[in-house]
Amino acid sequence: MLDLTYTEPEPKIIAGAKQDWELVIGLEVHAQVASRAKLFSGASTEFGAEPNSNVAFVDAAMPGMLPVINEFCVAQAVRTGLGLKAEINLVSAFDRKNYFYPDLPQGYQISQLYHPLVGEGEVLVDMGPGVARKVRIERIHMEQDAGKSIHDMDPTMSFVDLNRTGIALMEIVSRPDIRGPEEAAAYVAKLRQIMRYLGTCDGNMQSGNLRADVNVSVCRPGDYEKYQETQDFSHLGTRCEIKNMNSMRFIQQAIEYEARRQIAIIEDGGAVVQETRLYDPDKGETRSMRSKEEAHDYRYFPCPDLLPLEIEQAWVDDIAASLPELPDEKKARFVTDFGITEYDAGVLTAEPANAAFFEAVAGGRDGKQAANWVINELFGRLNKEDLGIEESPVSAAQLGGILDLIAKGDISGKIAKELFEIVWAEGGDPAEIVEARGMKQVTDTGAIEAAVDKIIAENPAQVEKAQTNPKLAGWFVGQVMKATGGKANPKAVNEIVAAKLGL
Ligand code: ADP
Ligand code: MG
Repeated sequence: MLDLTYTEPEPKIIAGAKQDWELVIGLEVHAQVASRAKLFSGASTEFGAEPNSNVAFVDAAMPGMLPVINEFCVAQAVRTGLGLKAEINLVSAFDRKNYFYPDLPQGYQISQLYHPLVGEGEVLVDMGPGVARKVRIERIHMEQDAGKSIHDMDPTMSFVDLNRTGIALMEIVSRPDIRGPEEAAAYVAKLRQIMRYLGTCDGNMQSGNLRADVNVSVCRPGDYEKYQETQDFSHLGTRCEIKNMNSMRFIQQAIEYEARRQIAIIEDGGAVVQETRLYDPDKGETRSMRSKEEAHDYRYFPCPDLLPLEIEQAWVDDIAASLPELPDEKKARFVTDFGITEYDAGVLTAEPANAAFFEAVAGGRDGKQAANWVINELFGRLNKEDLGIEESPVSAAQLGGILDLIAKGDISGKIAKELFEIVWAEGGDPAEIVEARGMKQVTDTGAIEAAVDKIIAENPAQVEKAQTNPKLAGWFVGQVMKATGGKANPKAVNEIVAAKLGL
């Protein structure tokens, strides 16, 4: 298989400051595990259910209730770890992270601080053909989600919905290897893509299914390299953490703003204070939420209700054996197998369903032509109508059928587009439609010759002109195409016109 090699992009330099500054970014991504039941209860995880309808006694922290681990959620986290080429820890443990919040009835969140389920991994963040950043994953741990407080439904009261309480989350912590706002968004996009391939997280950012805490600092050129050599964080600037970002666009905007804010403070002779900030998309700025001095003391301790989590290598191996082909491999294979560009392969593998559709169309056919049709005609049309690939009115078999008719010379590319429109609107078998509606290209040279003869006979002046200026032969080709309703094989028409005009 082709091994696509990459160069790393240059770090983003912030312009407009007195000096040059580089960005350093590390993300903590919270991904909701795709599972029908919660991490420690059998309650449903369905989104948008009636408030407080998906709450088991243990989710509501009723006295005496005990958590029971959901094996499927653990398998999903292991699967995610394997997909990120990470180390799987056969022994991990759950800890209590204590804090009070009205939507956290237990008074603590069960998380994994000291012994996470998944250790170091890495992900390749695509920044364009031939350009990618390798971002190291520090760890992935499992934890419970909290409930939701609702403050905007009543002027005097707040409400609490515990449906989300106890749903399994994976917290994916990156090393500070991300060097610009676009990279940060592309990193989240790549994690999302990999997890959608794995089926471990739906990645629906609007519903909070995937959200990120974004850590940002700035440093002078050269300092990051010193950090890389020594892994000593003192070479890096003080960071601020922007909490709970659930939009790629806002992630980029928040980083841009935050970098400028920090640079202005430093260039003014001040020092950045390590703190947690919130991004306000309406104002386009981040603002302080809490500083490190008032940071929570969570009093983490091992959760006494749960035994350490021990899993077997054989179980991990089974999960590894069931992993699907992942985006990077699929992209490389599409480039070699179908002879398409890396860019097109990237578009076609963005979503697993898109990739499957393309493969069904391209299998046994001209890959480049299939890619053109899927990307330009089909995706273009689906986008216009705001439809997903699953809702496509034209199936892979139908699109393949259209391409076969082109390959056989039954229809021209132009007629194929008309045929595509008919199949889109009315459905049906492309070959039958072509037959029934007389759309077949005329390849019968006798018929084409007759049409050419007729036009030559009727236009002696044009013949004379074309014989002195062969470029004008195109006019005859056009006339023949018109006379045959666009169904004449263009290649045959060109040849016959040239021969008859003696060119
Ligand atoms: P905490 O537990 O306080 O959140 P961590 O050491 O776990 O701290 O780091 C959290 C995130 O912050 C990680 O993704 C890490 O890569 C990132 N990070 C750490 N130092 C920096 C820095 N100087 N600049 C940007 N990001 C950083
Ligand atoms: Mg943190």
